[in-house]
Amino acid sequence: MSATSDPGFRHFISGVWGRPEDGASIALSDPATGAARAPLPCSNAQDVAAAVAAAATSGWEDSDRADRLALLQSVTALIRSRAEEFVAAISAEIGAPVDFARKQQVGTALDHLQSMLAAARAAEDDAPVAPDLPQHRVRYDPMGVAALVTPWNWPLNQVVLKVGAALLAGCPMVLKPSELGSRTAMMFAECMQGAGVPRGVFNLVLGGADTGAALVAAPAVRVVSFTGSTAAGRAIATAAAPQFKRTVLELGGKSANILFADCDLPVAIRQGVAHCMRNAGQSCNAASRMLVAREIYDDALALAAAAAEALPVAAPDRPGDHFGPLVSAGQWDRVQRLIRSGIDDGARLIAGGPGRPEGMAQGYYARPTVFAEVAPHMTLFREEVFGPVLTMTPFDSEEEAVALANDSAFGLAGYVQTGDPVCADRVARALAVGMVQVNGCSRAPGAPFGGVKQSGLGREAGLWGIRAFQDIKSISGAARV
Ligand code: NAD
Repeated sequence: MSATSDPGFRHFISGVWGRPEDGASIALSDPATGAARAPLPCSNAQDVAAAVAAAATSGWEDSDRADRLALLQSVTALIRSRAEEFVAAISAEIGAPVDFARKQQVGTALDHLQSMLAAARAAEDDAPVAPDLPQHRVRYDPMGVAALVTPWNWPLNQVVLKVGAALLAGCPMVLKPSELGSRTAMMFAECMQGAGVPRGVFNLVLGGADTGAALVAAPAVRVVSFTGSTAAGRAIATAAAPQFKRTVLELGGKSANILFADCDLPVAIRQGVAHCMRNAGQSCNAASRMLVAREIYDDALALAAAAAEALPVAAPDRPGDHFGPLVSAGQWDRVQRLIRSGIDDGARLIAGGPGRPEGMAQGYYARPTVFAEVAPHMTLFREEVFGPVLTMTPFDSEEEAVALANDSAFGLAGYVQTGDPVCADRVARALAVGMVQVNGCSRAPGAPFGGVKQSGLGREAGLWGIRAFQDIKSISGAARV
């Protein structure tokens, strides 16, 4: 244990809160000021082994469907009753403005829990292959111990998507949240405990990549659900492969937003800039590459630059619809490096740029930034920034727009703005991504979430998220009794 680490940090193993004791710790700081915070003590290899053993012997695989539903319902009610505490924790931990944390971060998590519960209630875990074939059945059985590894950018939502789905699927689990989102995860664990989760069904270990890697490698783990960077996802898939553990991977993105000439331009720009910049640009599905029909390109540049320059920047604890800091010094450095790469590669800076916004001398604030004439060979067109940086690229035809959108190693989300529903459908089908949103339509909470190519494997949310933790068994010759 580090002598200076925060005594408030605790892991939760086999129903008992305890302090990680191995001496490793991770430095933490306040995103709004940059001031050092007490470091995070890390769970060690023995802690991880104990957590996995507790899960493996919990017997949750044999639980009744009604008990699974009742438990998650109680957890949801507790989160709802502590919503303001979660808002404060998320805002302090990652620098999210409080109103955004309330409406989006906590609101989305609760919506996902509700839609998961509804999906589980409506689904059968043992049903005939066809109505006239009662002796030919399909069963969805829990896979066994689940390792859940989450990032910091939506620290409650990403936890509930995994824990809720694993619980409903019948899998006991060990959660390793991001080192930058551990307080939010501890509050979530308190809700699990408060709801009466049986001993060992849910375990929480704390730490960074080393703790996560130890968890993924544990022999009793059967399924790994990971959300985070493509680089870490690759390491996890590689580590899981020798034992053929299933991996569900929700990874990075560089999503295109295609604006056709017949779109409602002011609305499309307002929504497009806001979507790219929300959560200070730290969302995997951020609409970060705007592709614009050449006829409207100049107007689009002017509107986008004005929208970015007009974004108010303020401290996370201030109410209102504004823009907060990035999560960490590392993230700030990364964003600065990528902004400089845009300038060096010859893209035209039309809003923002390197450095801090005016009046923000400390903390990890970056300037909402827009680049024009961003070409496919440039780093900014290809690499995920995970910060408030929008790129704009003109196109001359629908074919070229789709080709530019698909010219990416990633394939998470795609956005289309057009007044022509036939074009919208054609382009939505042509995009090589996991999710498409047309004319600013929000995603339904129960819709499958995930990507293709280097954006990952598998889906979260709704019934898709639950099935990700189950094996499929076909039984022929025996009706259900
Ligand atoms: P990260 O990959 O650095 O870390 C994510 C989590 O993995 C953390 O808990 C970390 O400690 C752990 N980890 C890192 N290396 C590991 C390893 N080798 N083995 C086991 N665990 C390991 O990502 P981040 O900085 O926390 O989050 C940002 C990234 O997450 C972005 O790339 C973003 O696009 C992605 N993301 C994707 C989605 C999605 O649903 N597709 C959602 C949110 C964020």
